[in-house]
Amino acid sequence: MKNEQLARNNNIHLLKSSVNRHALFGLTISLVAVIVATLVNCYLVTGSLSLPGIYSVQKDLPILWLLDALPFIFLLWGQYVGSILAYEANTLINDQTDELRNQTASLEKRVMYEATHDSLTELPNRVLLHDRLDRALTTAVRYNYLVGVIILDLDRFKEVNDTLGHFAGDKLLKQVALRLTGVVRKSDTLARMGGDEFAILLTHVKDTQDLDLFINRILKVMVLPFKISGMSLDLQASMGIALCPDHGKDVDTLIQRAEVAMYAAKQQKNGYAVYSKNLDRFSPKRLTLMGELRQALQRDELVLYYQPQIDLKTRTVKQAEALIRWEHPVHGLLPPNEFIKLAERTGLIKDLTNWVLDESISQILKWEQQDFPMTLAVNISPSCLLNTDLPEIIIGSLGSHNLGRSMLTIEITETSIIQDPELASEVLNRLKKLGADISIDDFGTGYSSLALLKKLPVSEMKIDKSFVMDMLNNDDDETIVKSIIDLAHNLGLSVVAEGVESLVIAQRLQQLNCDTLQGYYFSKPLPAKEFKAWHASHAEILMSELLT
Ligand code: C2E
Ligand code: CA
Ligand code: CA
Repeated sequence: MKNEQLARNNNIHLLKSSVNRHALFGLTISLVAVIVATLVNCYLVTGSLSLPGIYSVQKDLPILWLLDALPFIFLLWGQYVGSILAYEANTLINDQTDELRNQTASLEKRVMYEATHDSLTELPNRVLLHDRLDRALTTAVRYNYLVGVIILDLDRFKEVNDTLGHFAGDKLLKQVALRLTGVVRKSDTLARMGGDEFAILLTHVKDTQDLDLFINRILKVMVLPFKISGMSLDLQASMGIALCPDHGKDVDTLIQRAEVAMYAAKQQKNGYAVYSKNLDRFSPKRLTLMGELRQALQRDELVLYYQPQIDLKTRTVKQAEALIRWEHPVHGLLPPNEFIKLAERTGLIKDLTNWVLDESISQILKWEQQDFPMTLAVNISPSCLLNTDLPEIIIGSLGSHNLGRSMLTIEITETSIIQDPELASEVLNRLKKLGADISIDDFGTGYSSLALLKKLPVSEMKIDKSFVMDMLNNDDDETIVKSIIDLAHNLGLSVVAEGVESLVIAQRLQQLNCDTLQGYYFSKPLPAKEFKAWHASHAEILMSELLT
């Protein structure tokens, strides 16, 4: 402002001096005119140029008086016109500057608004939400209260867009925005994050009851159908909630965790979910993994690791469990828990199981050629067992080879059987005929009936590691382990205990008459080459320790 005033004063000064210059020019001309006229008149009247002559014409000729006045007139006129001009110019510049300033201010305001708002719904956008959340967190930390972030995503919005067109989709988004605006308090912020995703910032959550009330209000406004292009559309939304300080204290963590909870709510179809650590498996990283898993199969990124099973009766290692891993180019070696469930949900599990069987059989044959006879236990998901192609897949993987001796053990869980006992029985019988052994994995965690198990061609039970790992500190666990061993033996089945992490547990299981042991105490699952090396160098030493 000060600078502006200074510049304006300078301009006025310049203008004034330019007018003064012109006035001075006029003054000089008129002075010259006075002198010339006086001298000419003096010469004409007196016949010569002399001071008395000049004095006399100056005194007697009125025309010269007029000429004498001219320089003063020019001087006064210059001053006057200069001031007027400067004044007018000043107001003109003032007016223009004000107009320009107003234009700039409104332009700035518009740019600011567009950068912080969504053009379709006029709601604050991601940028503004970040900013407000950041401020809310600073205050909340100071005054010690809860701040909530809700991420809301419409279910099946893509279908509306695809079938009714983008115009209808936009209309729907506007209606959703209006309904949500009605629920949100003035102090809170409803924002559109992009696509069909909205976010609500709750600047001050009193307690979880307060939160429940709010969630219920949102659920309620979404219940009524939306009217689009004369049609009535039922639309559900999934919400994920994260709270500060419980789930994070900074903007990015809170938004990301609310998003993870939203994905969980979407997949579990329960409307909303509050973030907790065990929901991390629903994170978007997992979802992108899903897209990549298909390619991983083609790109040879999957590998099998082998964990030895120690046969206590023969004191040998003749079998290993094949456990899948994914050598992900970015995330490194991923354990099966990170992708098996997803593969099951999308149906990719069939291709995956196919690959596991193929790889296992070819590994068995490779080792056989190296004079290293080893059989493998392979995990089969429930959906794959009930897919009756399983025997055909195995026949395909065998190619011209023969499953003459028992090379494969198929590990299935109790849930596989309960889902459809008749179908399971049919498939298992066919597998048995092909020469495969059947083992019930994670035994003790399911609800299968013994009567059912007796009817199936099962030859082995694997006690779930959750009972084995802590059995020396927990009497209940030890009782369960002992009962399963006795029960299996009474049914004519052998028993494997997995999760054996120490020598003392191994020795206790030996006393309890367990047939086979598997666990980190002997070895973690290893890649094929390392497994063979472990067998050559460690197997016997570990077994001799066990027997003393
Ligand atoms: P599972 O069949 O119960 O396999 C045993 C799991 O326990 C393995 O985890 C193994 O590494 C782990 N384990 C073995 N000994 C110990 C021990 O002493 N202590 C502890 N804490 N853990 C031990 P992993 O390899 O991460 O596999 C997890 C699960 O993924 C498996 O549980 C199985 O259900 C599934 N899975 C693995 N490979 C496949 C596959 O090829 N197909 C299918 N459908 N599922 C698979
Ligand atoms: Ca298993
Ligand atoms: Ca298991």
